[in-house]
Formats: sequence, structure tokens, C-alpha cells
Amino acid sequence: MNLRQLVAGNWKMNGLIADLAELEALKRGLESPPSCDVLVCPPASLIARAAQAVKGGFAIGAQDCHEKACGAFTGDISAEMLKDAGATAVIVGHSERRQYHGESDRQVAAKACAAWRAGLSAIICVGETESQRDAGDAPQICHDQIAGSVPKEATPANTAIAYEPVWAIGSGKTPSDDDIAAMHAHIRDCLVGHLGEAGKGMRILYGGSVKPANAKAILAIANVNGALVGGASLKAKDFLGIISAARPA
Ligand code: PEP
Repeated sequence: MNLRQLVAGNWKMNGLIADLAELEALKRGLESPPSCDVLVCPPASLIARAAQAVKGGFAIGAQDCHEKACGAFTGDISAEMLKDAGATAVIVGHSERRQYHGESDRQVAAKACAAWRAGLSAIICVGETESQRDAGDAPQICHDQIAGSVPKEATPANTAIAYEPVWAIGSGKTPSDDDIAAMHAHIRDCLVGHLGEAGKGMRILYGGSVKPANAKAILAIANVNGALVGGASLKAKDFLGIISAARPA
């Protein structure tokens, strides 16, 4: 299925008010209309300003949310707050959240439900570590993460999946095109097994060291319906290079 691609940027814990200039440059640099959906997820501190700055250009998202709408959860932020600030989507279950904050599949699934409750779409991340890949366990790991992290209510409209091999994130290493194709085909099968018809039309993004130089090849692979981009989303020029490599639907 040739789905409209989504190119999403994850700024992680990077970006001050001065860096909104990159988002303004991105807005100016986008063809109108772009051949893919474009989303940038800055830190929560910048969401409201970013949403204002890029209005009419592209979407702004968040990097995480709490599963509850409000309450005594010091330092956390709810999906409702993100929506209120101008976000339209939220990344959940990023490997850095799973690794540094011990997030379980159950919590990731609850965060996806929280996103939908607030009217946000969810980008649910899955992916194996290097030792899991070396042991030949990557397909099983992704299967299990999908089974545990993707609620049955997920639809192509409210959810995208990001396949992010943990060892490829920020490392400059990427799987071969054949490996990406095999993992995306496997994830497609897992989604159809888990969700039925909805799994056929759900976008599966690839993430892990996507750069302008490798974006065209990666975005041309079957079942790659977009990219989740960390480092190369911080500069408008690099991110535009990736966006321009998207395959029109
Ligand atoms: C990410 O953190 O989601 C990511 C893909 O990072 P990078 O593009 O820098 O590898």
C-alpha cells in the first residue's frame, strides 16, 4: 500500500527559544504543499511557541506524555496539556524512555491511550538492542513490543509505528536496506495479526541515523512509510534534505 509518508523530527532534550529560527526556516523551505506529512517534536518548553511560529506550515508534536490527565505527578506532563499547548501528536515508548525511565510496554500502551483521549495521534516506538539483534531476536522483540505497546483501538488515523533499532539511534550506523525491508515487512505482519484490517494502513516509520544522504534509499523501501529523525532534524537544511526525499503517495 502506498501510504502518504510522514517525516517526523525528534529534537530530544535540545532547543532553546533562539532555535525556533530553525523551525521558521523549515516552514519557509517547505514546498507548499509538501509531498509528505511533516512533524517536529521539540522539547515541551517550546511546544506553544513552536506551534504559533509554524502555524499553517507543518505540525508540532511532543516526545512523551503521562498516562493520566492531571494529578500529583511532579515534573510530568499530560497529553491534555500538550494538546492545549498546540501539539497534534506525541511520541511514546521511545527507546530512551524505555531505557532511562524503565518504561514498560504496559505504560507505553497507556500513554498511547492518553494521547487519543486528548485528541493527539501517537507514534509508538519499537526496536531491538544490538545484543538482541546479534542473538537473532529482533523479529521476536518487535513482535512482543507491538503486542504489549499497541492497544487494540489503534487505527491508521490515530497511530503510527516507529521501528527504531536502538543500536542505530545516534550512532551513524543503519541496518542494510534489505534488513530494513525485512523488519518492516515483519512489523506489517505483526500489525495485521494484532489489529486486523487497521494494521494494513498504519504507517511504519524507520528511525535511526536517517540523514539527507541515506534518506532517499531508506524512504524508497517497501513498507517504509516515513522516518523518525533525531539529530538531523535539528537543522532546517538537513531536515529539508530528508523531507525532499519522501516518496509522494
Ligand atoms: C531518534 O532518537 O528517534 C533517532 C532516530 O535519532 P537519530 O536520527 O539521531 O539516530
